[in-house]
Amino acid sequence: MPRVKACVVHEQDRPVETWAAPEQSGVQWRTLLSADRTPSEAMTMGVAEVPLGGATLRLHRHAQPEVYFVLSGEGVVQIDGEAHAIRTGSAVFIPGNAEHGAFGTGAEVLRLLYVFPTDSFTEVEYHFSEAVGQA
Ligand code: MN
Repeated sequence: MPRVKACVVHEQDRPVETWAAPEQSGVQWRTLLSADRTPSEAMTMGVAEVPLGGATLRLHRHAQPEVYFVLSGEGVVQIDGEAHAIRTGSAVFIPGNAEHGAFGTGAEVLRLLYVFPTDSFTEVEYHFSEAVGQA
């Protein structure tokens, strides 16, 4: 049987993941497609939630470009020092190695679909910025 084949997964069936160091972020996510867990390749997909109450997806960078699609909520995504307002339905392109982060500004949890053009989430090496700030 080929390793790569069609597959369908459901968000609710995937485990919730968080950073090992809680001070890194209050963000939680579910990995949907990633070659270390699904018979997929070339793309990695997940859903991240930025909880209410000041939690942020802290500023970080990684070599791969990334896209976000806002499933719900509203907030701000900061990319290389520039703040962009986002809301349900917004699509965001983040170039590889760009410093970026996100925080919610609305009354609803900010939910982001994210995709990396790489086989597996394990290949995405996060480098968090030193300064702890908003996004
Ligand atoms: Mn990122």
